[in-house]
Amino acid sequence: MSKVFLASRNVKKLEEMQRILAEHAPDIEVLGLDDVDAYDEPVEDQPTFEGNALLKARAGVAATGLPSLADDSGLCVDALNGMPGVLSARWSGPPLPDQKDLTDELNNELLLAQLTDVPEERRGAHFECAVAFCYPVGAGGLSEHVVHGKMPGRVIREMRGDGGFGYDVLFVAEEHSGVDHGAGLTSAQLSAEEKDKISHRGRALREIAPLVGDVLTGL
Ligand code: IMP
Repeated sequence: MSKVFLASRNVKKLEEMQRILAEHAPDIEVLGLDDVDAYDEPVEDQPTFEGNALLKARAGVAATGLPSLADDSGLCVDALNGMPGVLSARWSGPPLPDQKDLTDELNNELLLAQLTDVPEERRGAHFECAVAFCYPVGAGGLSEHVVHGKMPGRVIREMRGDGGFGYDVLFVAEEHSGVDHGAGLTSAQLSAEEKDKISHRGRALREIAPLVGDVLTGL
């Protein structure tokens, strides 16, 4: 079976990506960082999701020699001029090693505090992601592709749900805002399939999956 490397340490994100890819580009084996020899992962210091996704995918190819996918994503809040954006994972400070849930909780608490005085009509936000797919071509060449996905919605005032990860507990997508007597369902209250259907990552991965399938089966 052909292999693609998925450059992410975020277990929940990896699960989402493996699930969506399995549906849309079957018969390929997806390897994560734990399945390959350790290498120096790049510092995500670019100002855009696309820039960071490309850094990660290029480093994946350089380290493994395999076609590599990487996602860079985050929550962009209107009232914060689009922040946390590329800083989403480290909004409350450097991520705590091996304590992803605690890091998520600190990020969510900080965001809630920052939006305390922001009224309902100005709590718009969207998740955004760039997925980069890079693969070796010819003698030392690299083919690079980037797709984007968005999920519009709003930030609510309390954390709800125990699915998903990151800011899901605070985010109600447009598609799910009218339910539950207008309170809406957060992305953390959706099933995996419901989230994948409308999520930034689902949209981007469904767009790139046919190319991934073609490249891998043509190798
Ligand atoms: P990255 O791993 O550097 O791309 O960081 C992405 C960060 O953005 C995560 O740690 C989350 O805080 C946030 N994020 C990205 N996608 C999602 C999502 O689907 N749900 C909730 N939070 C997300």
